[in-house]
Amino acid sequence: MEKNPVSLLEHPEQSLRKKSIYDMTYEQMEDWAVSKGWKKFRIQQIYNWLYKSRVDSFEEMTNLSKETRKALSEEFEFTPLELVRQQIAKDGTRKFLFRTEDGALLESVMMVFDYGNSVCVSSQVGCNMGCAFCASGLTKKSRNLKASEMVAQFMAIQKELDRSNERVSHIVVMGTGEPFDNYENVMNFLKTVNHDRGLAIGSRHITISTCGVVPKIYEFADGHYQYNLAVSLHAPNNRLRDSLMPINKAYPLEELMKAIDYYTKENNRRLTFEYILLNGVNNSVEDAKELARLLRPYNCYVNLIPYNSVDEHGFRPVNREEAMKFYDVLKKEKIAVTIRKEHGSDIDAACGQLRIKEIRKGRK
Ligand code: SAH
Repeated sequence: MEKNPVSLLEHPEQSLRKKSIYDMTYEQMEDWAVSKGWKKFRIQQIYNWLYKSRVDSFEEMTNLSKETRKALSEEFEFTPLELVRQQIAKDGTRKFLFRTEDGALLESVMMVFDYGNSVCVSSQVGCNMGCAFCASGLTKKSRNLKASEMVAQFMAIQKELDRSNERVSHIVVMGTGEPFDNYENVMNFLKTVNHDRGLAIGSRHITISTCGVVPKIYEFADGHYQYNLAVSLHAPNNRLRDSLMPINKAYPLEELMKAIDYYTKENNRRLTFEYILLNGVNNSVEDAKELARLLRPYNCYVNLIPYNSVDEHGFRPVNREEAMKFYDVLKKEKIAVTIRKEHGSDIDAACGQLRIKEIRKGRK
């Protein structure tokens, strides 16, 4: 394709910048291959190189012809995420801080569970949801992440693990950002990591967490995906939820629960509610009873989350005994409940803390 010299002058960066190969889902790559007059089969080879051999350049795709490699490198590039810092905790948790091409900072976490290694991916640069307790919201969203930038977070971490022949088996979209505020890119990212011919992360090993963007819950329900859905609840009534999560003013509990009912019935799926225990705010026995009354009609379970303190916000975590008290009430009320194990508490554990630290350092 000939470059248009006029547009080169008007938008030099946009015109020169190639699309990232990680932005292309398998199906999009097949369509592209067909448009080139290639056999679809070639995409299988390319996908193998990208996601099984995990090469960093088109030159390394040695079983492709020179022309094919040239055609690829003329239109695509790899998304370069620069690794700024890696912290490793005693329990094996690793935190990664990345810088994008345009200088934005991203955080991803890898956690070690007995069932495998799970990567927590960021979906936006900053977040606009403004939850009162969360470090991510300390900086407003500056932009959505592209699918390629989410794929690249995963790939960078998988490549680190390749050194010791380990594999990432699970993904949670629970890093900085609201995935349902960047729906299409998140779904394309998941399509890529989920694809059988690539990384093949099983759908049941993928969880998307939302603060409750109701229209997107309906859209997700209608998509009949096999991914797990988690909803950040954190309060059993509108009064308390309004004070913790601004999204509740747009979509109050009645609307949220209606959407959840639709999702669970439409998909015949159980749903997870996340509930951070904030000392003296939402952890009383009365709160637990009210939560049980709210959730009883639904096919769901509750994941109680220990709070990672964020200095700026002033909320306090509960101790083990208080967490157990809340847990026991839910159990007695026949609500399925678990307490999330803490990970990486000896490093900057709370979501977005590493990123905030780096941003502040830069401002000094
Ligand atoms: N925006 C999405 C996903 C990102 S947050 C959502 O709200 O679900 C992922 C989870 O971490 C949410 O349940 C969020 O409420 C929780 N979280 C945020 N800050 C936290 C903190 N300091 N300690 C523990 N959990 C936190």
